[in-house]
Amino acid sequence: MENYFLAIDQGTTSTRTVLYDSNFTALDQNQIEITQYYPKPGYVEQDAQEIWDKTFLTISSLLEKNGLEASQVISIGITNQRETIVGWDQKTGKPIGNAIVWQDKRTTNYCKTLQNQGVEKEVIEKTGLLLDPYFSASKLRWINNHFKEEIVNKNTLFGTIDTFLLWKLTEGAVYATDVTNAARTSLLNISTLEWDQDLIKLFELEKINLPEIKKNADHFGSTTLFGGKIKISGMAGDQQAALFGQTCFEAGDIKSTYGTGCFLILNTGNQILRSQNKLLSTIGYKIDQEVVYALEGSIFVAGALIQWLRDKMKFFLSAPESEALAKTANGNSEIIIIPSFTGLGAPFWNPDVKGSIHGISLDTTQQDIILASLEAIAFQSKDLLEAIRQDGAEINSIKIDGGMANNDFFGQILTDVLNVSVQRPKNIESTALGAAFFAGIGSGYVKFNELPDIWKADKIFSPEKSYDAKYSSYLQALNTSINK
Ligand code: ADP
Repeated sequence: MENYFLAIDQGTTSTRTVLYDSNFTALDQNQIEITQYYPKPGYVEQDAQEIWDKTFLTISSLLEKNGLEASQVISIGITNQRETIVGWDQKTGKPIGNAIVWQDKRTTNYCKTLQNQGVEKEVIEKTGLLLDPYFSASKLRWINNHFKEEIVNKNTLFGTIDTFLLWKLTEGAVYATDVTNAARTSLLNISTLEWDQDLIKLFELEKINLPEIKKNADHFGSTTLFGGKIKISGMAGDQQAALFGQTCFEAGDIKSTYGTGCFLILNTGNQILRSQNKLLSTIGYKIDQEVVYALEGSIFVAGALIQWLRDKMKFFLSAPESEALAKTANGNSEIIIIPSFTGLGAPFWNPDVKGSIHGISLDTTQQDIILASLEAIAFQSKDLLEAIRQDGAEINSIKIDGGMANNDFFGQILTDVLNVSVQRPKNIESTALGAAFFAGIGSGYVKFNELPDIWKADKIFSPEKSYDAKYSSYLQALNTSINK
């Protein structure tokens, strides 16, 4: 009777639950938006109680809509926005203040102070991460200090969103996280896969509770909130879940997600690859006793550039229209866009560079700017690939997903610019699929080596023309922007 999997995909802007059959074909989904709070410049918060309530609702209504009993669900997998952190009262389950979201920059000065103390080298060595407000530890310290009065005399639990959802699903029975989420806190030693006491001390978090760290496919307990018992046996941060959902199982396999931003992750095998080019070393996944490491680079603005053309420039009404318009652009246009609207991400990590458009002439059209935008995102991807190559890693394959991956013309530009074949899967929702895969393995329903046969390509893009000359022009424009 057990025929289905549920994947909870708790993202930054929404919570979704996806229903899969036992062959991992997505059958249905429910999605609800999450309220974002911006109480001060640089602050980004969410209400963890709202996240839980909406997660619960997506699950219960999905089961109801499809006429399913809890007993028909083999297992649940959880994937989530990474780094976002929350504290809650163990007795009541009530969050202590709002969750601080990964985008929140309130701890920038504190991180700078730590940098000035010369401790970044140790942090990078242990965590694979830079000393940056992006990661959870400095945010956790902020909550711990700010809510001192409330926290005193309470057994407060802290965790990333995966941990909070698991605790809620199991009604307080399980307080745990997984290695990939733990790796984004800045408190996990990625060599030992344990909380690091020196880092805990560095961030002045000696007295706080931290969850048990589990594998990605594991026994995470069970929930009885949906009319029967359902196992929870998969958990991973969203980008790592996408890596797994794209079956990037060999060293050299890359998944690149083109949503609002772009997140590129390379499987580096069983060894930690230390980047000399400001890419992050992180954990890809842990199955049984095998730990797979990864190198990660992110571009802040990818689909957001298309959104900007739509909403602010009013060039078109919906993002998919960008494809037909770009195709009618002047192919010899010299327009170059540097899309650093919020600074530059990897491999530059330069928050001060502003966005710019270069090479405009009197005959420049909207179409030329749209084409240049698609090219800009491909050029930034090439920057990441070049950094990876300089770090000595081999590249086997690139699998893409995210909203922009639906754009065939972008897929072709990307393969031309990178000069590497680019594959797009039939099931473009790699993140939820990865969570379902972990749940499949953790519940013993499927074996790791059966997964590659489940992944199906929808389209394979192959290089047709050289973009070397235009990439050189882009690099020149980029240098001008950086050196301003
Ligand atoms: P996120 O998960 O970050 O919200 P999605 O993966 O849903 O993002 O992708 C949405 C982004 O992709 C938007 O920024 C949108 O502008 C862009 N996008 C969606 N479809 C297309 C398309 N056909 N061509 C270009 N960009 C697109």
